[in-house]
Amino acid sequence: MPIRPEMRTRYPRDWPQISHRIRFERAGGRCECDGRCGRRHGSRCTAVNGEPHPATGTRVVLSVAHLDDIPEHCDDDNLAAMCAPCHLAYDAGLHAVTAARTRAARLIAPGQTELFPTPGGPQ
Ligand SMILES: [Zn+2]
Ligand SMILES: [Zn+2]
Repeated sequence: MPIRPEMRTRYPRDWPQISHRIRFERAGGRCECDGRCGRRHGSRCTAVNGEPHPATGTRVVLSVAHLDDIPEHCDDDNLAAMCAPCHLAYDAGLHAVTAARTRAARLIAPGQTELFPTPGGPQ
């Protein structure tokens, strides 16, 4: 249950294509976070999809963050490919701390590394 049903309906039908394009064509498979998440990783995060995360050592699976936290808002400049630590930290800054904790605990189940897996499986 990676995306809550009420959230899935808010994503555009071509979200898998949008997500893939942002992560791999625009971002080149690398986290696009420029520090806006609040983590101290320099000008741009060095996490690369499929490789060990520079901070956590776990395999990086990029997801696409909505910078304004509105799923319908899928303009390129509202989207950023992010590694899980950046995405979580960024979201935590958008919400109250307790809400972010709840969200993180619900979204990241044991063994799950992707925040918003593409419907139909990893690409
Ligand atoms: Zn990152
Ligand atoms: Zn970051």
